[in-house]
Amino acid sequence: MKINNKGLAHIRKMRRIFLFILFSLFPIFVVTMISIKRFKSWLPIILPVSLFFLGIFVQNRLHKQKCPNCNAFFFVQTVTRRNYTPASSISFPPQKKCQNCGVALYR
Ligand SMILES: [Zn+2]
Repeated sequence: MKINNKGLAHIRKMRRIFLFILFSLFPIFVVTMISIKRFKSWLPIILPVSLFFLGIFVQNRLHKQKCPNCNAFFFVQTVTRRNYTPASSISFPPQKKCQNCGVALYR
């Protein structure tokens, strides 16, 4: 079984960008609130808001990634009656392995 490493590298990169946005959003929001208070201007709110929408966009792109090994959606679980939870079907935060065949992003 030959796994397309280029495809995996692409998923790794997008997942890193998404996680970076996810974890930087809160600190940036705090800094924005402080500067809004100090400069009495709401203009800095543009930064966290646009970052938030960028995050949604990247997450959408990320969840459309196909696994290079089994060609199913990498982050979307095949929901069966046994593995169903209200939060299932999309892995959040994105997992390190394919939700269908289990191929790992990092080896
Ligand atoms: Zn797979």
